[in-house]
This record gives sequence, structure tokens and C-alpha cells, in this order.
Amino acid sequence: MRIVVGHLYPEYLNIYADRGNIAVLARRAAWRGHELDVRALGPGAEVRPGEHDLYYVGGGQDREQALIAPDLEARAPALRDAIAGGAAVLAVCGGYQLLGRSYVDVAGRELPGAALLPLATVAGTRRMIGDVLIECELEPGDRRTVVGFENHAGRTLLDQGARPLGRVIHGFGNDGESGFEGCRDGRVVGTYLHGPLLPRNPWLADWLLAQALGHRAGGDPPELEALPDVLEAQAHEVSSKRARHRGGRYS
Ligand code: GLN
Repeated sequence: MRIVVGHLYPEYLNIYADRGNIAVLARRAAWRGHELDVRALGPGAEVRPGEHDLYYVGGGQDREQALIAPDLEARAPALRDAIAGGAAVLAVCGGYQLLGRSYVDVAGRELPGAALLPLATVAGTRRMIGDVLIECELEPGDRRTVVGFENHAGRTLLDQGARPLGRVIHGFGNDGESGFEGCRDGRVVGTYLHGPLLPRNPWLADWLLAQALGHRAGGDPPELEALPDVLEAQAHEVSSKRARHRGGRYS
């Protein structure tokens, strides 16, 4: 099958090799006989609901976020329709912040958000930097860990009743206090974790691919054939050890 990915603002939001997430999705799709068709959606690009199975937006600094925030806000109604139709979303750090209602940056400027996730973000004075280990349960009863690297000034507060992506075991997560990391609403996932995220968390890449394939086929997410993931498991282990020793420093 051909999985169509809408890569939002690849020229602006691509810090810490976030583009590597696309490479992982493409490879893992190809290993199962599927093709990933990645289409860049830059400023002014039209989002046609139903066209893309998965949207991806990476992280960026306040400056880049300010440049694209109004454009993303203008695209929010189309993205909301696409999500209602079953498209999946992965948003990382700066992109994650802009999926909320607003982001007040380090300079105190309020950037509009797409309001696709139930949250808002305000920058603090100290940055939260380090390796992170979280525990997630995207499917009931299926507990998994996710590892990555975070570097953000923004403190993200989830609305009452909103679901985090996971619970922090080591590191800061959304705000360094709530114990929550990221946000998950149906097929929409936002997270602070870079590194990039997916090479060392292959199960999450497969979860996203399965959601995208389900959207393409107009049905439930399929069960994907397992891959050996030997190197991936090692990378996950190295990162979780780092998170245990070096997670959560203010800077
Ligand atoms: N500018 C945002 C912050 O510092 C996001 C940074 C990032 O994407 N790493 O909170």
C-alpha cells in the first residue's frame, strides 16, 4: 500500500535530526512491502482532508515557530477535518507546542496554536534538558517505554482530563512537575522527545504506521509483521541507561 505523509514545515521545524523520524517510517514501511510517499507542506500549502494518512511536524526554536505559527493556525480547520476522518499525527517539541492553543515564548510573545490538542504552553526561564524515559500505554494493557532527548523552555499544561502520551520515569516531560510527558488524543500524538524519536522506539513507529495504514484502507489499524529490531533494542537500552543517569537537568 502507499502511505501518504504530510510533512508540515520541514524547512522550518527540523531540530535534533527530527527528519530522521520520516526515514524510520519509510524503512519500516518498505520492510513490510509498503511505500511511504512523503509530501512537504510548507507555508501556504493546501491541506486537503483525506489526502494524507499521517501528518508529521518536527521541533524548532522560538524563531522558527513564530515564522510558521500563523500559517499553521490557518490550516487548523483542514487538519481538524483530516483528523476527524482518521488521519494520524506525530508532533515533536516545537511542533507539539504549536498543536496546543497557544505558546508564550521566552520573549513573552504569544504565538497562536492550531488547538488540535487540549493543552497550552508557556516558556519558563530555565531550559529543561536531558535524556528522558517514559512509560506509555497506547493500547489498553500494552505497556511500553519510550526514550528520547528533551531540550525545551516551554512548560506544557494539559487541560483537565486530557491524556498524556506517558508518565515520566526519568527526565522532565511536559513541565517537570506533573509527571506527564506529551499528549495523546486518538490518533494524534505530541511529545517533547527528539533524538530523533523513532529509531530507538520502533514500536511507536509501527503504531503510527498501523494507524496510517488503517486510514488508507478505511478500516482498523492492521497488525504489522514483527521485525528483528536488534540494533533498535540496543539503542533503546543505551538511551534508557542515559536517562537514568543524566535525565533532568535545568540549564
Ligand atoms: N522553542 C521551544 C522551547 O524551547 C521548542 C524547542 C525545541 O523544539 N527543542 O520550548
